[in-house]
Amino acid sequence: MSSKLPAVGTTIFTVMSKMAADFKAINLGQGFPDFEPDPKLVELVTQAMKTGHNQYPYMPGDQVLRSNISKKVETLYGHRYDENTEVTVTSGATEALMATIIAVVNPGDEVIVLEPCYDSYVPAIRLAGGIPVFVPLTPPDQENNTYRVDWDRVGEAITPKTRLMMLNFPHNPTGITLKSEDLDALETIVNNTEVLLLADEVYEHIVFDAKPFLSLCTRPALAARTFLISSFGKTYHTTGWKMGYCCAPANLTTELRKVHQFMVFTVSSPMQVALGIYMADASTYLTLPSFYQEKHDFLYEGLKQTRFKPIRSQGTFFLLADYSAISKEKELDFAKWLTQEKKVTLIPVSAFYRSPEEDASNHNLVRFCFAKKEETLEQALSVLKHL
Ligand code: PMP
Ligand code: GLN
Repeated sequence: MSSKLPAVGTTIFTVMSKMAADFKAINLGQGFPDFEPDPKLVELVTQAMKTGHNQYPYMPGDQVLRSNISKKVETLYGHRYDENTEVTVTSGATEALMATIIAVVNPGDEVIVLEPCYDSYVPAIRLAGGIPVFVPLTPPDQENNTYRVDWDRVGEAITPKTRLMMLNFPHNPTGITLKSEDLDALETIVNNTEVLLLADEVYEHIVFDAKPFLSLCTRPALAARTFLISSFGKTYHTTGWKMGYCCAPANLTTELRKVHQFMVFTVSSPMQVALGIYMADASTYLTLPSFYQEKHDFLYEGLKQTRFKPIRSQGTFFLLADYSAISKEKELDFAKWLTQEKKVTLIPVSAFYRSPEEDASNHNLVRFCFAKKEETLEQALSVLKHL
């Protein structure tokens, strides 16, 4: 049988987590916390199950949850999405991404992808018959120890066939966020085009150095063409619940829901009821930056005592580090060796590169996940400092 995704194997996250389990390694690879969610949230799920929320919920999502998503987005970013026609609860951000892409990308349409990129984007674009058009992020150099978006290159990539642009900030794996000037540039680029935007903002509440997060929906001109996607998995330490949402103007939401209703129809009822009640208290997400800043700084400072060269992250629960002083191996080989021989698991950044030009590339970078207890990070550092 011919494959619809011939170039796709098992995702790097599954591969590395399995290796970590097989070799009993400390897993700083796949992005998930090694600590539990707030017991109050778990109790709310139990309560929802005990009070009859066990059958199919309303297709677009629980009313209270949609209403509280709408309120949160308006309070934080100043853009009001109508809870009835513009907010949809999805099975994690992954479903929202796939449903959006299938809903709007026609065969032959071009989709702009900034590279490195999250691993589900390109397979989803290909399944829809779309053509990914890669624009590389500018890598760190002597002057700037951070990746940057080159908006001139993004602008040059737009053609009459461009249907959608994938934008993920805070960015996995580089940890970069957008500044006001970036949003200005993006507005100018898409003005007078029909290009739609997919804003993957799953790490919206994990931003560092006391900076506010600039969602794409803070700009009305961008919000009018944006599918805004987030994930409760990241925000509430519940990646295994697979709960997320998508906000988009009513005409775009209509198309999204046509796919959503036949992809999953609807999403876990008790989880929705619990999250709806829980998120009404803004402190449940406003405390996240300081919570994760501590972990980021702990790992960053710890890595500075090793031969890794860490790069500060502006957001997400990941940071990158250069390992060229330790090994000349390619990223995947280095990550496998580290797991097998040293019992620490990381993710090779090459897994986030998809374009043919980058296929054989090697940036000597690995990604660390710091959504871990301090003792886990400490254990890993005590191994890494001997490399
Ligand atoms: N987008 C990005 C950038 C991610 O890092 C993740 C995390 N896994 C997802 C989407 C998927 O989120 P979810 O687990 O809610 O499906
Ligand atoms: N987004 C998570 C990461 O980047 C992994 C999610 C997954 O395994 N699909 O590590």
